[in-house]
Amino acid sequence: MKNIEFPIFLPDATRAVTKSLDSKDLENAGIEGVVVNTYHLAETPGVSVLNSMGGVKSFMNFKGLVVSDSGGWQIFSLIHRSRNAGKITDKGVIFSAGVKKKELFTPEKSVQVQFNIGSDMIICLDDFTPPDAPIEKTKETVERTILWAKRSKQEYLRILEQNKVEDKDKPLLFAVIQGNYSRDLRKHCADKLLEIGFDGLGYGGYAINEETHSLDLELSRYIAELIPEGVIRFALGVGFPYEIAMCNQMGWQIFDCTLPTRDARHKRLYVFTKRPENLKDLLNPETYSNIYIGREYYHSDERPISEFCDCHTCRYYSRAYIKHLFDIEDTAAYRLASIHNLRHYANLTKLLRNYKKASV
Ligand SMILES: [Zn+2]
Repeated sequence: MKNIEFPIFLPDATRAVTKSLDSKDLENAGIEGVVVNTYHLAETPGVSVLNSMGGVKSFMNFKGLVVSDSGGWQIFSLIHRSRNAGKITDKGVIFSAGVKKKELFTPEKSVQVQFNIGSDMIICLDDFTPPDAPIEKTKETVERTILWAKRSKQEYLRILEQNKVEDKDKPLLFAVIQGNYSRDLRKHCADKLLEIGFDGLGYGGYAINEETHSLDLELSRYIAELIPEGVIRFALGVGFPYEIAMCNQMGWQIFDCTLPTRDARHKRLYVFTKRPENLKDLLNPETYSNIYIGREYYHSDERPISEFCDCHTCRYYSRAYIKHLFDIEDTAAYRLASIHNLRHYANLTKLLRNYKKASV
């Protein structure tokens, strides 16, 4: 696998596409990797199609990094929505896959599918509870996460051996640290996962600070410090640009989030309030802002979305034009707004790389 520069931001490409953008749009916006969804891709177009097309990267003609998630979240969401939809046990997840049909999804199955779709980074199936779950329940899911991580690692090694995969072609294997707000459980989970041994560990269950209603930065720092140098730190689901800058300072290296693309489709565009000149600027929440392009205020605004952005949209089009495209509900609005928001995130990670190097 090619070398990755950190920090890196990966937008969501659930079904092998970042909504309304093609792979060239992503590359032109400076996006170096995406996260695809194992469960959805296994359904459509299916593993055999992806296999015959040379894997998901060649299928979508994307040269960057492709990370797959475990597929667990979609199945768990189904189960949490309806009691009859299935059951989670140590063995795996039993869920209804259509009328009268039950399927067992296991940690092994998740690793196999991720291998087969040609992912660069495989994430072990993990279990989790809502953050307000009782501690006993959280403890149970942490133990199951550790058990499943162990089985995932065994399956990963088995597949490498069976297919005689060369070192340079090995996907990286990640496990997820769960434990909600309990520092003891987070530490226990991290220690056990480190014993098993992974290329990287993820910060599971985007924990919210109840006072600020945003990412719990103290807990993020605590968890980052549980992971030694040499093990890649993946802040799953993080986050807003300011949170990425803060978490990167704590040692988190990979970020993935649906925010920039989903917000773009909802007319919420990310901007810097001033040109960030150094690391201090990037760690200042006041450097970050949003504009809501649907507002009447922009109807004849000739300026680009951001004067500090070099994206395709800002180079060629005005705020007034983007607002107009949203007003008439043309899909070009989604594309142009998504390109801008993704370029904003890509620029943020580039600035973090540069300013960190300069501050060493
Ligand atoms: Zn732009």
